[in-house]
Amino acid sequence: MENRFLPMYSIASGIGVDVLPDLYCYTNQIVNICLVGNSAEDFVLVDTGMPESAEKIVEVVEERFGENSKPKAIILTHGHFDHVGAVVDLVEKWGIKVYAHEAELPFLTGKQNYPKPDGTVEGGLVAKMSPMFPTEAIDLKNNIEALPADRTIPYMEGWRWLHTPGHSPGHVSLFRADDRTLIAGDAFVAVKQESLYKVMTQELEINGPPRYLTTDWNAARESVNKLAALNPAVAVTGHGMPVSGTELSEGLARLAKEFDDLAVPDHGRYVDDSQ
Ligand SMILES: [Zn+2]
Ligand SMILES: [Zn+2]
Repeated sequence: MENRFLPMYSIASGIGVDVLPDLYCYTNQIVNICLVGNSAEDFVLVDTGMPESAEKIVEVVEERFGENSKPKAIILTHGHFDHVGAVVDLVEKWGIKVYAHEAELPFLTGKQNYPKPDGTVEGGLVAKMSPMFPTEAIDLKNNIEALPADRTIPYMEGWRWLHTPGHSPGHVSLFRADDRTLIAGDAFVAVKQESLYKVMTQELEINGPPRYLTTDWNAARESVNKLAALNPAVAVTGHGMPVSGTELSEGLARLAKEFDDLAVPDHGRYVDDSQ
């Protein structure tokens, strides 16, 4: 497969990319959402972008699958504000179920807020801005359910979820063993998310999870090891371009090997606790 379905140009906000025939990645401002499946009757939405983006996401879905089409379900990699931005509005419009890891449910049912982002981590302007990011739990009430314990994913045949905590307690990544396709969420990302310049230019760089929101670096390290061991052929991460081939395998292997140097901040509120 290698680069066959990947674009030769870098994606920027508001552009969709056919990563595979049944995997479409759309960048909503600074964060990626995925449509998995290739029939209008049978597809799911993974993550829901930034706040206030429901209208845009409906447009993207209808452009791809036809007017009034809707996914069977929404799967969340985790509950941070830039991944659940439109979820309440979309559930209301579509009347579909949302699935997330059990350990993430408190943040999605109004029971617990995320810890405050750490604006002291080094890395750039986005990190500096991060204390302004919302951390309040949203409340999906009875529209959300835990992912099945057998690691299958509703309406995503052939895929399995893996618990990849660290960035958040119930973070999951989605993997299809057949063609080694990975949806990694923020377990690792393909852009240096702390840097505003690199976010704007979407310069490809396999990196650890966004620093300012990651609270357990030991777990985050283990999660990256787990994903590297899968040897994915192509990956869509929460931020940055889809990545495949040697760029992915070498980048991920290096990240796993040099995680403490590349990913863990030298200083920060959540560093000393976890070391
Ligand atoms: Zn996140
Ligand atoms: Zn994110």
